[in-house]
Amino acid sequence: MKIQPARGTRDIYGKDLSAFMFVQNTARDFAKRYGFGEIQTPVFESTEVFARGVGETSDIVSKEMYTFTDRGGESFTLRPEGTAGVVRAFISEGMEQNQPVKLMYAGPMFRYERPQKGRYRQLHQVGVEVLGASAPQTDVEVLCLAWDFLSALGLKPYIRLELNTLGDVESRAAYRDALVAYFEQYKDRLSEDSRVRLAKNPLRILDSKDEGDKKIVENAPAMTDYLNDESRQFFDAVKNGLTEMGIPFTVNPRLVRGLDYYRHTVFEFITDSLGAQGTVLAGGRYDGLVEELGGPKTAGIGFGAGIDRLALLLQEVGKQPEEPRPIAVVPVGDDMTLPVMKIAHDLRQAGFVVDMAYSGNMGKRMKKANKINACAAVILGSDEYAKGVAAVRDLDTGDQSEVEIAGLPDFMQKYRAAQGM
Ligand code: ATP
Ligand code: MG
Repeated sequence: MKIQPARGTRDIYGKDLSAFMFVQNTARDFAKRYGFGEIQTPVFESTEVFARGVGETSDIVSKEMYTFTDRGGESFTLRPEGTAGVVRAFISEGMEQNQPVKLMYAGPMFRYERPQKGRYRQLHQVGVEVLGASAPQTDVEVLCLAWDFLSALGLKPYIRLELNTLGDVESRAAYRDALVAYFEQYKDRLSEDSRVRLAKNPLRILDSKDEGDKKIVENAPAMTDYLNDESRQFFDAVKNGLTEMGIPFTVNPRLVRGLDYYRHTVFEFITDSLGAQGTVLAGGRYDGLVEELGGPKTAGIGFGAGIDRLALLLQEVGKQPEEPRPIAVVPVGDDMTLPVMKIAHDLRQAGFVVDMAYSGNMGKRMKKANKINACAAVILGSDEYAKGVAAVRDLDTGDQSEVEIAGLPDFMQKYRAAQGM
C-alpha cells in the first residue's frame, strides 16, 4: 500500500507555506499591535467543552467532530474551532480576575467535512477573543483589527464585510418566534436538516446551503425588524463606529452564525475569488458562552480566520509574498570548500541568508544559485584567497567586484533589502 496523507489533510511547504506563514504572522503582528496576548490551548479537549461551547445543534457538533474515547475510557474531541478552548482556559485559569482579557491564537482545527478547494479536514485558523468587555466599541475595535490585518495582506480590493445583529436575548426570542411561524408554512419543502433545525434552532435555517432552503429563506423575516430599543442602539453604535473608522460594510439581515450563544454583532469577511468557500474571516459577540461553560457571566467577542483560505486567496489574486533572496557562496575548486564555508558562516552570523550547494563544479553551482533566486554570489578561487579577497557577483546585473574577505559582511549590506530584512 502506498502511504498517503489522510483525506482532507495536506502537507504545506514551499510557496504554499510562505503564503500560510505570511497570513499567520501578519495576524499575530496586528493582534499584538491591538494589545492582544497569545494563548496556545490543547489540540484536544473533553468532548463536553465543544458540545456545550459550540452548541449541540451546530453543524460542527452534530456532524463534523473528530471524537474518540481514549484508553482511559474518556471522550475527547480534536478541537474544531478556537473559541471554546479559549473560554475553557479563561475559566480554568481564573482569568476573570484580570478582565478584560484579550487573547489571540493560531493553530490547526479538525472537522469531518467533504474536502474540496478551501475546505479541509485539518484546517488552520487564527483568531482573537475579548472576554469581559460588553460595550459596542469593543466590537468596533475587533472589526478594526480584522480590517487592518486583511488590508496588510493586500486583500482590501478582494473582500467585503457583511454585518448583522442577532439582538439581545429578548429580541432574538421575538425573532425566533417570527421565523418559526414563517418556516412552519413551508415545512414540507424544507430540507430534512432544516426541518430538524426548525425544532431545535430555527435561526440556523438562514445559514442553510441547500438550494431549496435558500429560496424559502429569501422571503423570511429580517432580524432588523425585531430589535428592541437597546439592541437597536447597540447595532447603531457599532455601525457608527465602523463608519467613523472608515471601514466599509453592508448589513446582511440574513447573516447568522453557527454558535447558539451569539448576541448582537455577527460579521463575515467574504471574497468572490474562492468559489463557494468565500468566507475568510468570521465572528461575533457571544455574551452567554462563558456562563454556558460554567464560568461567571462574562461578555465575549471574537473572530476566527481561515489561514488556508486566506493563503489560497493571496495566491489566487497574485499577492504571494516575496521570498527573501539568499546569497550564494561558490568555491572554485575543492580546496576552497572550507574557506567558503567560513565565509558563509561569517555572513550568517552577521544575519544574512546564505546558501551553499553541497557539490558540483563552479558552473553547476552558479546555475543552482540562479535557481534559488540568489541576489548575489560570493565566488572564491585559490588565487583570490591567497590575496585575502573574494569576487562578489550581483546576479541581477552581472556586475562583479573584488572585496576583501574580512569586509564581506559590511559590503553585503547593500543586499539587505533583497534579503527581505
Ligand atoms: P463554512 O460556512 O465555510 O463551513 P464556517 O461557518 O463553518 O464556514 P467558522 O466556524 O466560522 O466557519 O470558521 C471560521 C473560518 O475558518 C471560516 O470563515 C473559514 O475561513 C475557515 N474554515 C472553516 N471551515 C474550514 C475548512 N473545513 N477548511 C478550511 N477553512 C475552514
Ligand atoms: Mg462549516
